[in-house]
Amino acid sequence: MLNLKEYHRPKDLTEAVALLQRKQPRTVVLSGGTWLVGEAPRDVEAVVDIADLGLNRILVEGNLVRIGAAVTHQQLVESEQLRTSALRVISETAQAMSGLNIRNRATIGGAIVTADAASPLVTALLACDAEVVIAGAKDKTKQADDPSDFWKVLPLAGFLAYRRQILDEGTLITEVRMPLPSPDTRSHYARVARTPRDYPIVCAVAAFAMKDGIAGHVRIAVGGVAATPIRLSRLEFGLEKKRLADWLDREMEAQMALLDPPGDWLGSAEYRKEMARVLVRRAILAVAGAS
Ligand SMILES: Cc1cc2nc3c(=O)[nH]c(=O)nc-3n(C[C@H](O)[C@H](O)[C@H](O)COP(=O)(O)OP(=O)(O)OC[C@H]3O[C@@H](n4cnc5c(N)ncnc54)[C@H](O)[C@@H]3O)c2cc1C
Repeated sequence: MLNLKEYHRPKDLTEAVALLQRKQPRTVVLSGGTWLVGEAPRDVEAVVDIADLGLNRILVEGNLVRIGAAVTHQQLVESEQLRTSALRVISETAQAMSGLNIRNRATIGGAIVTADAASPLVTALLACDAEVVIAGAKDKTKQADDPSDFWKVLPLAGFLAYRRQILDEGTLITEVRMPLPSPDTRSHYARVARTPRDYPIVCAVAAFAMKDGIAGHVRIAVGGVAATPIRLSRLEFGLEKKRLADWLDREMEAQMALLDPPGDWLGSAEYRKEMARVLVRRAILAVAGAS
């Protein structure tokens, strides 16, 4: 951060958003800092550290799991709240993000803002139906003084698609939240990488409940085949309330035909597509076998 002139550490969310929405100087959120300190654009002149905003807790409220934006990857790994349900795939993929030193600083908010193609954590969050809660959002259809014109809740996939525009408005992610899965929901993470501990080239997460061979509430996400991880909605829809043994092969074919991954030095387009097929199938069969 070569041009940093101001460091702010507000104790209040309204103050944080007011600082972020100033026209000048260019101000961004500082969370764990693992990406920002090395990669911040040169025009960033001020940071708002969110460490004192109380966003570092994981809460289960009724049927909702609320993960504060400043919760670290290591907190996700160690969380008791996530351990007892299909959400344990969030802990597992948080562990797969990086080594312990980075996990102790890097946060869930930072992970979704900087999500790359194969982020295991973001792939798992998509499969867990995560939503992103944003403070400071402006709804142009509302009156300027409408007090409800502050919060916005977006499905994670929607946030990923428009994250630059959303954050450029001076907004702040306060939490990532998701429904608590039913007790019979199972999840599985599958991945391929250069070494067993390396960051994945392609990864997949499946989560659903099985009863009498029928799949329900099917959620499938894959990383490494597009600019960010994506949900496989075609496949989810094709398997919902269907006998898996009868439908898996044909629905997999229909979904895979829609994938068009870019190739790079880690894997050609053909390799990524084939790995997506193998890993998605493996994750689905693992969930079915555990049910
Ligand atoms: C040595 C090293 C190794 C790394 N290895 C990996 C790796 O293997 N895998 C990987 O995915 N990443 C890796 N990273 C990158 C980084 O650790 C991750 O992107 C991390 O999730 C960023 O989180 P953070 O809390 O540190 O974010 P920060 O660096 O604080 O911020 C990152 C970006 O997100 C924005 N931001 C953060 N929180 C919020 C919020 N609540 N609301 C709005 N905007 C926000 C910031 O303004 C900034 O633009 C590595 C980094 C380092 C230094």
